[in-house]
Amino acid sequence: MNTKISKIAILIGIVGLTACSEGKKDNRKWFKGNLHTHSYWSDGDEFPEMIMDWYKTHGYSFVGLSDHNILAEEEKWVKVIKSKMYEDGFQKYLDKYDSQWVTHKLDSGRILVKLKTYKEYKPLFEDANFLIIQSEEISDRFEGKPLHINVTNVKERIEPQGGTSVSDVMQRNIDAVLAQRAKTDTPMFPHINHPNFFFAVSVQDLIDLHGERFFEVYNGHPMVNNYGDSLRPGTEQMWDMINIAYTKKNQPLIYGLATDDSHNYHQVGSAYSNSGRGWVMVYADSLNPSSLISAMENGDFYASTGVILEEVTINNNSLTIRVDPSDNVNYTIEFIGVAKGEEQSRVLKTVSDVTASIDLSADYLFVRARITSDKKKENPFKDGDFEMAWTQPVVFPADSGKKP
Ligand SMILES: [Zn+2]
Ligand SMILES: [Zn+2]
Repeated sequence: MNTKISKIAILIGIVGLTACSEGKKDNRKWFKGNLHTHSYWSDGDEFPEMIMDWYKTHGYSFVGLSDHNILAEEEKWVKVIKSKMYEDGFQKYLDKYDSQWVTHKLDSGRILVKLKTYKEYKPLFEDANFLIIQSEEISDRFEGKPLHINVTNVKERIEPQGGTSVSDVMQRNIDAVLAQRAKTDTPMFPHINHPNFFFAVSVQDLIDLHGERFFEVYNGHPMVNNYGDSLRPGTEQMWDMINIAYTKKNQPLIYGLATDDSHNYHQVGSAYSNSGRGWVMVYADSLNPSSLISAMENGDFYASTGVILEEVTINNNSLTIRVDPSDNVNYTIEFIGVAKGEEQSRVLKTVSDVTASIDLSADYLFVRARITSDKKKENPFKDGDFEMAWTQPVVFPADSGKKP
């Protein structure tokens, strides 16, 4: 990863501003990670070791294996589906990790495999360049609507909390995460999964929440309706609508994640949820959960489906984006935001280049950047998708325009 960043300053929430002071050594660098994926521990169709191996050998620095309502800590056996594809999958697993490591047996012609726990598979992969963060996808419902909230760096399994409305169920689950964070004194955060999965969560449901800082602006699962439909907004539009409401109630801005939500490891294509579709790039000083979570809560990260950034800088009242370009690929940088007094976000400035800046001294509620390439995404969420990136919204202090 090319990291030429000399400094990065990210605005927090509504009034906070952090900046690296001149002369202070900045040891931060970019770490690539996927915080949402599934395995045989719930409804994914692969063994954790095979999944971790894929991410580690594809340039990721960290992964959260986030199975539904379960932590990989008990004894669990899976029965391999009786089909050539899954039996071949098991054979590959056995060939890779040998029969010393893999615990399995035959029962009435079916292969039974004991899954490795988090504590067992973690040391097989972790080193200075790779981290596995214990995670869970709390998978709740209200009147049949699936309401899912990820917890990154969870310490104890969290039961779905239930509730009396969509937002009440979500709030109770968010509160359960925050309560565990306080109780264990361990950094962890909830993030809202795929709000448009079955169009279960409306913009108003999300506006009603508090205490959450992240949601999935992009999720690679084919059923999540990232782009909305003719009647309902896509997640990117929802993002701005939520943040307009949050700024009005002095609530910290919500940040956008891209995740894989991968379940399918033996079939590839737009009908399946595969690894490699969406991830985050976190600008942190070291590869551990505390450092990554702290950076993300500061907004020091961006979401990507392929576009890599060299620089995201706020300096001299301007937000500057610099792409780390691939050969023969063209980029369009759009700054999207809401001018004070306006009720909707719009594209404030468009630049077809690898670098662009926008003056933040004008009165904006917030500004973010979307970078679109003309490189087609391989194995995309939707046919025709281009590789993209989204930086986090920033708010300039109200009096900043008066500064020299
Ligand atoms: Zn989900
Ligand atoms: Zn999921």
